[in-house]
Amino acid sequence: MSVELTNWAQSITFRAKELLRPASVDDLRSVVAKAEKVRALGSAHSFGDIADTPDALVSLSELPDTFEIDSVAKTVTVGAGMRYAEVGRRLHEQGYALANLASLPHISVAGSVATGTHGSGDTNGTLSTAVSAIEMVTADGDLVELTRQDEGFDGAVVALGALGVVTTVTLDILPTYDVRQYLYFGLPLEVVDQHFNDLFSAAYSVSLLTLWHGPTFELVWIKRRDDETGTAPAGESWFSAHPADQPVQSLGGAPCTEQLGIPGPWHERLPHFRPEFTPSTGVELQTEFFVPRRDAVQALHALDEVRDRVAPVLQACEIRTMAADDLWLSPAYGRETVGISFTWVKNPAAVLPVIELLEERLTPYDARPHWGKLFTAKPADRYPRMDDFRALMRHCDPSGKFTNDYIERFVL
Ligand SMILES: Cc1cc2nc3c(=O)[nH]c(=O)nc-3n(C[C@H](O)[C@H](O)[C@H](O)COP(=O)(O)OP(=O)(O)OC[C@H]3O[C@@H](n4cnc5c(N)ncnc54)[C@H](O)[C@@H]3O)c2cc1C
Repeated sequence: MSVELTNWAQSITFRAKELLRPASVDDLRSVVAKAEKVRALGSAHSFGDIADTPDALVSLSELPDTFEIDSVAKTVTVGAGMRYAEVGRRLHEQGYALANLASLPHISVAGSVATGTHGSGDTNGTLSTAVSAIEMVTADGDLVELTRQDEGFDGAVVALGALGVVTTVTLDILPTYDVRQYLYFGLPLEVVDQHFNDLFSAAYSVSLLTLWHGPTFELVWIKRRDDETGTAPAGESWFSAHPADQPVQSLGGAPCTEQLGIPGPWHERLPHFRPEFTPSTGVELQTEFFVPRRDAVQALHALDEVRDRVAPVLQACEIRTMAADDLWLSPAYGRETVGISFTWVKNPAAVLPVIELLEERLTPYDARPHWGKLFTAKPADRYPRMDDFRALMRHCDPSGKFTNDYIERFVL
């Protein structure tokens, strides 16, 4: 029986023959052991065919709920299919928090971690850097646990679903905190040239957004922790950008989280989008490239030179920063990183040539693509530990049970 199952953007129809929802970890182990080809599906928010398989897709939605806080180790262990919105709400209720979140809280923990999903902030790593342990079912149906101390752990966190089906993820937690959001309008690129570090280090999380209609960022989005002593002002002009005196109600039609400096718990401010509504425009494709921070300003100018090609198919472009990490396939592996993300109109024929153009423009800056978004060029040589990852794949999955077209194209 074939399933008509699509990703969130409805831009990919999965080829999988069936979608299985095992009700216990033992059932999952038996599904994986028997399958010829199998992949886990999270909340299906990726834009490419990364999760697809010709055989069985497995959803963890029917597995028993796991949510265990260890207040001594300062960790929470959650079911891999749980979404960040629920993890955030439950952690906050018990006085805890995560260090960061992506722009939307609708995504599953395991799916986000597997693709190196991130938010913004000079001192914040990608969401996968909060992972201290994973439990997963490997190709022969064994249940294995890997912790930060284990060999291969750094390769097994951002793993693109290619090593096994992760059942639980253990995340570092901290005491809960409040965040205030401040939005500003109109920041010229030339000001970013001169003050890139001052701008991005001014608050816990900073994003710049542009439509590339000109060399200007129409929106600056600041998220300040109540307990931080950042330099971003509240309510005054800032580096020639003007403070918003009305909230920006929606981004691309989706209601945004509370702004104008009104304090609120971290999980209701770090995402741009509210969990109870469809995020972003809902009718879109996305691409993101990650460049070394030291090259970010030059990379932005390289994009500005082709903005006439970009703007007609663009819904929004967002610039965010993240701290370097050691996770082999992380976009921030080994370097302080700047993410440049593009929300496109949902027209692949018009968008793909522009993605190719951007890949060409950003080649001098060693740009890595977001694993969960659209790209065309094989990025293997951008990851210094790619050979180690391939060896780990051979070790965990010698018969290639978790390999799919995407892995063949972009990893092998
Ligand atoms: C509107 C929108 C906004 C976004 N904003 C951001 C953003 O701010 N920052 C950012 O970095 N990204 C962003 N993304 C991209 C998104 O975070 C990634 O695509 C992420 O992978 C989505 O998680 P998911 O649960 O939907 O994963 P899926 O798309 O379901 O799966 C992704 C990969 O994870 C694997 N996987 C899923 N579950 C498991 C499991 N249990 N075990 C092993 N492997 C598993 C799958 O096999 C697949 O390879 C956005 C996407 C959308 C649609």
